[in-house]
Amino acid sequence: MVYQKPLPKPNADDRFFWEGCKEHKLLFQKCLDCGLVRWPPSIICPNCHSNATEVIEVAGRGKIYTYAVYHQAYHPGFEKDLPYVTAVIELDGGPHFLSNLIDCEPDEVKCDMPVEIVWEDITKEFSLPKFKLVR
Ligand SMILES: [Zn+2]
Repeated sequence: MVYQKPLPKPNADDRFFWEGCKEHKLLFQKCLDCGLVRWPPSIICPNCHSNATEVIEVAGRGKIYTYAVYHQAYHPGFEKDLPYVTAVIELDGGPHFLSNLIDCEPDEVKCDMPVEIVWEDITKEFSLPKFKLVR
């Protein structure tokens, strides 16, 4: 079946991230001067303005920092998912990262619950990092 939702549009800054996702690796930039692991990708560190950067892999575990339950689809591709949960994940060793919580009932979701990554292979080119509750 053809994927019905918008696809990522990689650019020069975030191409490494999407290529990592394709291999089921969660990659972020880490500042070599102050150590900040940042998201979204950027040429300079938003904390110290250094452009010295390495790319690190993060394990894909963390906890729910905050979340919202969507009851309305703002794109037709999301209608069959309603209601669905969008959450900011506080990643262990990583940045805060916006994604979806899947395989859960919206009523059971609470802040600070532990979560782990689930990869959704949506096309040959793209895999999306989503999260599920650690049960
Ligand atoms: Zn820095």
